[in-house]
Amino acid sequence: MKNENCIFCKIANGEIPSKTLYEDDLFRVILDLGPATKGHALILPKEHFANLYELPDDTAARAMILAKKMAALMKDRLGCDGLNVIQNNGETAGQTVFHFHMHLIPRYEDDGQKIGWEPGKPKEEELEEIRKRIVC
Ligand code: AMP
Ligand code: ZN
Repeated sequence: MKNENCIFCKIANGEIPSKTLYEDDLFRVILDLGPATKGHALILPKEHFANLYELPDDTAARAMILAKKMAALMKDRLGCDGLNVIQNNGETAGQTVFHFHMHLIPRYEDDGQKIGWEPGKPKEEELEEIRKRIVC
C-alpha cells in the first residue's frame, strides 16, 4: 500500500526522481539529500510502513540483507573506514520522515561526524528491573 501524502512512497516508486543506487521488487536505495558523510544512503521499502513496528517480518529480513549488500559495495567502491546503520522510529528518536527507512552512513577517519550518546551509569538493580520488564 502507498500513502498519497508520503514523499518516500513517491521516491521509492519512481514518481519523484532520486539518486538511485539500487532497486528491486521491494526496495529502492537512494542517496540522502542531506548526507552526514559522502555516500550516505537510505533503504526505502516501496510499500508504506511508518516505522519498524509496522514492518512485516519478511520485509525486515530483506532490508537487513540489502543493508549488508550495500555496506559491502560502499566499502569496496568508496573505501570507507566504517559504516553506521541507523534506523529512527518516532519523533523522539529523530525520525522526520514517517516512512520506514534505514540509513547507511559510510564513515571516514576524518569525516568530523559524531554519531553516538553519552553512556549512563546504571546500578545493577536498575539493570535487573529493566531486564525483567523486557525479557521474553
Ligand atoms: P530520519 O530523520 O531518520 O527520518 O531521516 C530522514 C532523512 O531523509 C534525512 O537524512 C533527510 O536528509 C532525508 N531526506 C529527506 N527528504 C529527502 C529527499 N527528498 N531525498 C533524499 N533524502 C531525503
Ligand atoms: Zn510512504
